[in-house]
Amino acid sequence: MLDSILMWFRRDLRDDDNAALAEATRRARRVYCVFIFDRDILDALVDPADARVAFIHASLIELEAGLRQHGGALIVRTARAVDAIPALAAELGVDAVFANRDYEPAAKQRDAAVETALAAHRIGFEGFKDQALRDGAEVLAQSGRPLTVFTPYRNAWLRRFADDDIVPFSIQPGRLAVPPCAQGVPPLASIGFRPPADALPFQPGMSGAQAALTRFESLLGGYATARDFPALDATSGLSPHLRFGTMSIRRLVALAIGGARAGRDGAAKWLDELIWRDFYFMILDHFPHVVDGAFRREFDALKWESGATADRDFAAWCEGATGFPLVDAAMRQLRLTGWMHNRLRMLTASFLTKDLGIDWRRGEAYFAERLLDFDLAANNGGWQWSASTGCDAQPYFRIFNPVTQSERFDAEGSFIRRFVPELAAVPDRFIHAPWTLGELALAAHGLRLGVDYPRPCVDHAEARRRTLARYAAVKNGS
Ligand code: FAD
Repeated sequence: MLDSILMWFRRDLRDDDNAALAEATRRARRVYCVFIFDRDILDALVDPADARVAFIHASLIELEAGLRQHGGALIVRTARAVDAIPALAAELGVDAVFANRDYEPAAKQRDAAVETALAAHRIGFEGFKDQALRDGAEVLAQSGRPLTVFTPYRNAWLRRFADDDIVPFSIQPGRLAVPPCAQGVPPLASIGFRPPADALPFQPGMSGAQAALTRFESLLGGYATARDFPALDATSGLSPHLRFGTMSIRRLVALAIGGARAGRDGAAKWLDELIWRDFYFMILDHFPHVVDGAFRREFDALKWESGATADRDFAAWCEGATGFPLVDAAMRQLRLTGWMHNRLRMLTASFLTKDLGIDWRRGEAYFAERLLDFDLAANNGGWQWSASTGCDAQPYFRIFNPVTQSERFDAEGSFIRRFVPELAAVPDRFIHAPWTLGELALAAHGLRLGVDYPRPCVDHAEARRRTLARYAAVKNGS
């Protein structure tokens, strides 16, 4: 039994079912807890009202209260984690620092630097699996190599599943301790941020996660069919909670497995989505080159559009002003709420890369700036899937048509009307492609194309031909 351990919270902001925290309380008589607002991360954020910082801050207040109930406390500092963790560990005289593993290359580098600095003080460092249900070399092909196609990965993941995997981790009573330097969570302003102008679009903390889960439980049965229709709000909305760890993945897998075993299609489909999450963590962990290049390296040779026209198109895409109503509604949902429905992430990513011919990395970076649930692994995976440059990606010749996607997944235009109110009076049949109605008829519905709402910024059929040629050039090596 160790004397004391420092538990370092990062993207696991909960005291419920937390692998590293529980293990620390099993292995040491006293466990101190810390969260660092990492200057290296904060300094890269452009918006002082970034909703993610506010979400983390509110979640920390709840976490601190939870730790207090267990007899502990939370030290919160604003510093460079690589400096602050070794210094604090030495100041507290702990035997080891425990944390849950992170799979992002920058985080792995940071942890390696922290581990080295701790070793100089003869303090240990241990990382635990908590963010994913399976990680590292747990799910491999028979050859011992990573499985880079989703279906075989999922099948291997399911074969390896055991009920023990979802037994929640519990804190041992009487082990959490209050260090003299714990002074509660400082105000948001003290770290140079302020709350977003509007209320946070997602209720933060473990309570917010539980509320989202409770809402979703009644929708789970219908998930397999309803999940594709943005207007229905039929997905869990748990992604920000999984991002910041205010909900444990094991609890969600337990729910999904239970439902799937009971023969509920929705639960089996939802389990697949949770496995996709593990899959992309694994890809990022094993293939870190995806951070700035194509998973399939030959696609680094793609010649994307650049220059003034591409910049103008990119700005229109960001603003939700492309003239394609469902694309615009989706991009406005992102700007207004910090979240976007999965079907629409696929559609807008396809539109940027295949209709506008713009490099997926520009879109990926914009999503990274805006998404409350931004997660490098899933975002990169989703973008490379859509751009057909990734592992198990959509074949490049299957190109979403923004109008037929709209007719299929928002047939009555309810979602479009929610975010593009200027189209509210356009009849359902024409709302997916208002320019087909003709200027006079549109005027009768109070809409002037090019004035109240943009004309389409691109001709889809032509763009499709250009995209096929762009990808074929790479395939043919020309
Ligand atoms: P649900 O449908 O309820 O699914 C439950 C959980 O499963 C999600 O919260 C998420 O953690 C996981 N999940 C679902 N679909 C995927 C997927 N395709 N890949 C990986 N995990 C998945 N997800 C993020 O969490 N962060 C991102 O930055 C992100 N960027 C994306 C970018 C693009 C271009 C695309 C196509 C997808 C992206 N996704 C991302 C995946 C997916 O769109 C979101 O996870 C999902 O929309 C979140 O909503 P939900 O919680 O209601 O999902």
